[in-house]
Amino acid sequence: MAIPELNSSPAALVKVLWGGTFDPIHQGHVASAIELSHYLGVQPVQLLPNSQPAHRTSPEATTHQRVKMLSLAIEAHDELAMDTREVTRQGPSYSVLTMAEVRQEIGPVKPLIWCMGMDAFAGLKQWYQWQELLNYGHVLVLTRPASLWPQDPELLTWYATHKVDEAKLLLASPSGQVAHLKLGQHPVSATQIRQQLRLGHKPSATELAPAVSQYIASQSLYGIN
Ligand code: ATP
Repeated sequence: MAIPELNSSPAALVKVLWGGTFDPIHQGHVASAIELSHYLGVQPVQLLPNSQPAHRTSPEATTHQRVKMLSLAIEAHDELAMDTREVTRQGPSYSVLTMAEVRQEIGPVKPLIWCMGMDAFAGLKQWYQWQELLNYGHVLVLTRPASLWPQDPELLTWYATHKVDEAKLLLASPSGQVAHLKLGQHPVSATQIRQQLRLGHKPSATELAPAVSQYIASQSLYGIN
């Protein structure tokens, strides 16, 4: 299969979206998304905060605060941008609706890649119309420290049916495939950061961007007094 010449693959030709709650955005997100941008030769990778996450409990920070933290975390990184469509749209943030909307915007030919960590992939069957995702784009599963491959037979069959062996091959078609990719592993999670803050510990700069740490303190977020 022909892979597009990556150096001539400007952002306009490929859409890479990375959805999440980002409560808060941490350096695992940022470092992985930057590395992904370099690996795919696509800039920017677009981080897409959700408003009402459809598959988990409500975030602690407000939507405004999560968006602000995301913008602070990515402002120094040309490889990254933010797509705010889900926070400006009413109702639950169903990825399939977002992908359909993006597909409508970019037309039928350009590759659209929807990224998720392995933990999110393990819960994919709970997603609204999960099997329809591939009608609109590809799914790229990113390995995460301490996250194992799910064991659900239906999910594994779905993966095996649509998989390509190398994540870069997703750039060669608009939709319909899945791949996984192991980037540098960053053992950090938003849950762990919220717990650290609640216990009065300051996350390091390798866990949380300093500007995000400062914002969290200024807003007394996550139990900080
Ligand atoms: P929480 O601990 O609250 O579940 P989180 O750290 O998983 O939060 P999310 O905003 O839920 O953060 O993550 C958004 C997406 O980024 C998900 O698909 C998740 O799997 C992925 N992700 C989060 N942290 C990492 C990481 N360290 N490395 C790779 N992917 C990650």
